[in-house]
Amino acid sequence: MRFPRPRCKREINRSPFKGSSCSKGSTVEWGAAIENLKSKIKNGKRDSALAKTVALSCRILAKLGLFKETTGHVSARSRDRRTMMIRGRGRAESGLIYTRPNNIVLSDFEGAPLERRSGLKTPNEACIHGELYKARPEIGGVVHAHPPTIVLTSMAGIELRPIFGGYDPQGMRLAVNGIPIYESSLTLHTVEQVHEMLKAMGDSDVCVLRGHGIVVVGATLEEATVRAIKLDHLAQMNLQAATLGQVPSISQQDIDGFLGRRRAKGRSVEPLWRYYGEWEKRN
Ligand SMILES: [Zn+2]
Repeated sequence: MRFPRPRCKREINRSPFKGSSCSKGSTVEWGAAIENLKSKIKNGKRDSALAKTVALSCRILAKLGLFKETTGHVSARSRDRRTMMIRGRGRAESGLIYTRPNNIVLSDFEGAPLERRSGLKTPNEACIHGELYKARPEIGGVVHAHPPTIVLTSMAGIELRPIFGGYDPQGMRLAVNGIPIYESSLTLHTVEQVHEMLKAMGDSDVCVLRGHGIVVVGATLEEATVRAIKLDHLAQMNLQAATLGQVPSISQQDIDGFLGRRRAKGRSVEPLWRYYGEWEKRN
């Protein structure tokens, strides 16, 4: 693949390949940056099956109310493990609920697009995804959403407690494991901000950004998507419980019982992913 060399500074600034959405605060020499990108483009390859999965995840989460209008994004690590497919932003998009595979952009972990997609760029917060993929090799999918329940519970100081057991064991486990909170409500546009958030998140699969939203990861995007749904359910139940007064957590004996159980072999998120895929089609 060949790209014409930019002829003037204005053209450089218009180039969709001009560096990342996430600022690092340093100027990289243009020639070196072009060479660097060329080698990444040579290695990076658009994966249309993965683009479909990313688009479906966006639509499922949007229809469930975890995304508002055009903000928030989902990504999946590419098979080459050095690039990602991420929801694009710009005049060619119509919001999360209408996301289609052609709205998904192949990008490097710095948030720089590795392909031309007219009217689309990577999100300003693409560094959330890229820095997570760099820091945690086990991660295959990332969801960054703005669910109203999380915004409310985090601002009201409502702790997400295990107030149910068998009703939804996956949601209960999230509460029992503890849900880290990142205190800043600012959008995360710089690598430095994301590193602060990663410190708060530790090795957890979820992080609540107070007054902002959530970051949820999984071994696959399907897993991250289902986990985000479970986290939202947990927040919905705790929000409703807070309006009822004193709703206790389940007993320590029950928690120990659940944690002592070995998870059923071969159980995966696949049935739930299929369920939500079917539900999305019909809604
Ligand atoms: Zn955000």
